[in-house]
Amino acid sequence: MDRYIDLRSDTVTTPTLKMREAMYAAEVGDDVYGDDPTVRELEEFAAYRIGKEAALFVPSGTMGNQLAIMTHTQRGDEVILGEDCHIFKYEVGAPAVLSGVQLRGLKTNAGMMDLEEVKAAIRPNDIHMPRTSLICLENAYSSGEVVSTTYMEKIRELARRHGLKIHLDGARIFNAAIYLGVDAREIASFSDSVMFCLSKGLAAPVGSILAGSREFIEKARKNRKLLGGGMRQAGILAAAGLVALKEMTGRLREDHENARYLAQKLIDLGFEVDLKKVQINMVWAKAKPNLNFENLPAKLLQAGIKINPPANGFFRFVTHKDVTGNDIDKFITILSKTVQAGER
Ligand SMILES: *Cc1c(COP(=O)(O)O)cnc(C)c1O
Repeated sequence: MDRYIDLRSDTVTTPTLKMREAMYAAEVGDDVYGDDPTVRELEEFAAYRIGKEAALFVPSGTMGNQLAIMTHTQRGDEVILGEDCHIFKYEVGAPAVLSGVQLRGLKTNAGMMDLEEVKAAIRPNDIHMPRTSLICLENAYSSGEVVSTTYMEKIRELARRHGLKIHLDGARIFNAAIYLGVDAREIASFSDSVMFCLSKGLAAPVGSILAGSREFIEKARKNRKLLGGGMRQAGILAAAGLVALKEMTGRLREDHENARYLAQKLIDLGFEVDLKKVQINMVWAKAKPNLNFENLPAKLLQAGIKINPPANGFFRFVTHKDVTGNDIDKFITILSKTVQAGER
């Protein structure tokens, strides 16, 4: 087996040769002292690229989101967000542990909360109640759907009227920008802070960016130290991040095209796929009820293909720079044989 075809996530992308060269050559210093020129360059470029005053390099997207919550809120505050977004579902309950805030998860439809429900969830000024201080949005959404800037603008209006801040989990904001045909700055312009990942489709080995106003980022920098995220010669990682941000955003389009290609092939094989929801690099596919799919990941692994087990009957396949069109054909061929053999 020379290499695996890995469809589990875009987090599995390996750094490009150019990234490795940049890492090797990176000028570094102690970033906690502010001495690392490569980290500084990445933070300045990232701020410019996303249209905010300042930015902070953080080890993970989770830390970026948690720093945003910690920096925007006070203990006992309440945060409104979608009940199926990453912060609510996949960050280990960190807002309660790290920031002492309470989360108010609302239902979503295509990644959007109902505006009236958001409005109703904002707490009045009452001695018994927590103070609502923050709304968290996500774009692209965890479901692979992209939310419109019109929706984001409406949420911002509501937030402004009630004196709330907005944090955007933009882990895949550059994917969302391609789908919407806008600059990522425009998406980020509807929030006070934004986090995006360098280590997913953009293929850097490690790291995310938190961006916002200069004052916000200075506070977040101190909170990053509190969380143990002050890194020393981090320029070695930032160097790869700079390549990711400068050279890897445009090619995400290919991943989206591959996802649509894969979706169509899966439909031809009898899987159920809602093509309307194939907007970025993710395909959700439901197996036919007569397919014995529990052991599909194990069987495919033997053929050199890595997939995650299904959740609620749906497989999630993710395309990225290390999955070519040929890889998809190979996957489909092997899947088709496995499906035929597995039908009961
Ligand atoms: C991946 C992801 C994160 C967190 O990133 P990590 O680097 O894995 O901590 C946050 N939000 C969304 C929507 C993500 O997809």
